[in-house]
Amino acid sequence: MGFQDRYDATLAELARACEAAGRDACDVRVLAVSKTVGADAVAEALACGCTDFGENRPDMLAEKAEAFPQASWHFIGNIQSRKIPEIARFATLVHSLCERRHLERFDREAALLGRTIDVLLEVNVSGEASKSGMAPADVADFMAYAASFDHVRVRGLMTMAPQGDLDVARRCFEELAALRDDVRESLPADQAALFNELSMGMSEDWREAVASGATIVRIGRALFSDVFVADATVS
Ligand SMILES: *Cc1c(COP(=O)(O)O)cnc(C)c1O
Repeated sequence: MGFQDRYDATLAELARACEAAGRDACDVRVLAVSKTVGADAVAEALACGCTDFGENRPDMLAEKAEAFPQASWHFIGNIQSRKIPEIARFATLVHSLCERRHLERFDREAALLGRTIDVLLEVNVSGEASKSGMAPADVADFMAYAASFDHVRVRGLMTMAPQGDLDVARRCFEELAALRDDVRESLPADQAALFNELSMGMSEDWREAVASGATIVRIGRALFSDVFVADATVS
């Protein structure tokens, strides 16, 4: 099974998941997480119709975005201050912002580049110590702070659910969606109009995320490897 088969199967399943949830399939973007694969695999994915790719290392983001400028490149990894110039240059959307000093730095870099950068706030909904992201209770204050920066637009929220239990994952996604709605209601109209993205769901739990309102699902292994296909044949 090649990339095209896995991609087509994923899109078909996404259409079914959207229909079951009463949603329009156009409202969910598939982000192909290419962090474990090389340029050849990205080229193949592009040829199959993939438009959005996710990387978690700034150097790989830069390398692949330079090689494939026709695609949209998303940054989904941990942010380090000194890497922000590189991320700001290449990312169309940063999924993992959770510190004020990083917001300031992105604003400065985007101003230098003469652009606006779109970001999502990473939220640690599950409260697991191993996970990065801000506490749900801190999102509203962060938005108030973000309002004073002209070159960064906060487009919504991102989370990673605990792995291994789909019911737990689903509750986590539902909480993120409820948080997005609550915060949105409290925002001034100009901020609220932009604040609508929910980046949630990975290879194992994207169906639950779509049912809960995800607008971007971040899929790596289920697109670029055969592990999930093998699973499905065994069971
Ligand atoms: C690696 C990664 C993914 C994709 O994970 P898969 O389980 O391979 O689909 C999604 N989001 C983030 C933040 C990641 O680091």
